[in-house]
This record gives sequence, C-alpha cells and structure tokens, in this order.
Amino acid sequence: MAENTGRVVFLDRDGTINEEVHYLHKPEDLYFLPGAAEAVRMLKEAGFTLIVITNQAGVARGYYTCRDVETLHAYMNEQLRKEGGVIDAFYYCPHHPDCGIGEYKKVCHCRKPDTGMFEAAEKEFAVDKAHSYMIGDKELDIQAGHNYGVESVLVGTGYGAEHKKAAEEQGREKFYDYYAADLKAAARYIIAKESGKNIQKGNPAEGPEIQHERSILPGTSD
Ligand SMILES: [Zn+2]
Repeated sequence: MAENTGRVVFLDRDGTINEEVHYLHKPEDLYFLPGAAEAVRMLKEAGFTLIVITNQAGVARGYYTCRDVETLHAYMNEQLRKEGGVIDAFYYCPHHPDCGIGEYKKVCHCRKPDTGMFEAAEKEFAVDKAHSYMIGDKELDIQAGHNYGVESVLVGTGYGAEHKKAAEEQGREKFYDYYAADLKAAARYIIAKESGKNIQKGNPAEGPEIQHERSILPGTSD
C-alpha cells in the first residue's frame, strides 16, 4: 500500500463526488458526477489519502439507517475501484441538533462545520495540515475545512455555484480559498500545487482491498 504521506484530501460526498439526491441512501440512486471517479484516481495516484467527511442527518430523521449509509459507501468504493481509485475512509455524522429520533437528536461535535470527523480521521491517518485540503460544494464544507485548519476548495457542482454567487451578491469576501468547476478541476489544482513538493507516487491498485468504515456513534464523539 502507498505510504501515508500525511497529505490528505478530505472530500464532501453529495454534490461533490456524486449527484445531490434528496436523502440518498440506495445504491441504485448513486450517480457519480462527471469526472469524479477520474479525480479520485488522479488524487490516489498522486499519493493522497482520500477521506470522505459527510453529514447524514437522514439517520437522525429516521429516513435511513447507519447500515444503509455503510452499504452505500461500500458500493461507492466498488464502483470507484473499477475506475482505478478508492476512498480510504468514510466518516459520517448521523446526528441532528433539532430533529431526530432518540440518541441521534443531539448537538454533536462531528456535524460539519464542526471538526469531530476530521479529528476522528486524525486518529487513524497521519495528517499534515499544511499539505492537506478540504473539497466541498457548500459554504459549511469550507467553514469545516477552515475550522480544522486546511486549505479549502469550493466546487461548482451541487450547491457550489449557488453559494459562490450568493456570497458575491451579498458583497462578501470570498469564503473559500480556491474555486474549481468540479472535482476533477479541484484535483488538478491540488496536484499541480503540491507537485514539486516531493509527493510520493502511490499505486492504489497495489493496496489491500480494505475499506475503512467509521461511524461517529452517539456517545463516543463528544
Ligand atoms: Zn454528529
């Protein structure tokens, strides 16, 4: 397996890797955005560790279960492997502060823009923040990346173009560090920026077929 260089790309899921589908939880409703699977492969080949960080309040709302989320992520990786890429780990927050059933209704530390999922990832993977990135389509993804302390790239897919435009219309300063049309453009930017910084070449095809699945379970995150 490629050595963990500490260079991590944290990725939002819905609207960044795959099409935003309302409370996505069925594999048959998963559609990769154009170029997304290729972007995942490019980043893996460049030696990055890829970690998905996703809010899944649909669990709190009772629309689907943690098991559904994990099944979907396994399916996602199955599809990505066919394109020569892989996500090294998925972290998701099943909570919601106001709506939800039982133990999932809570103010937690993992829900983006908070940083609990990044910190959970840090326990499993080396993270060199100076050479790590967050990519997402929402302002809260960028806030989460900044709260954690990594450069954060807004993609124009999903809600990205809308959130960029809204900020411009409000006359606010840009909230993101870099804007890329889509995940592939974001990958190109990051790879170009990091090239010449002695990135170790990784070959995901040689890695063991291990998928890490990490749920941020109630009671263990705070
Ligand atoms: Zn949470």
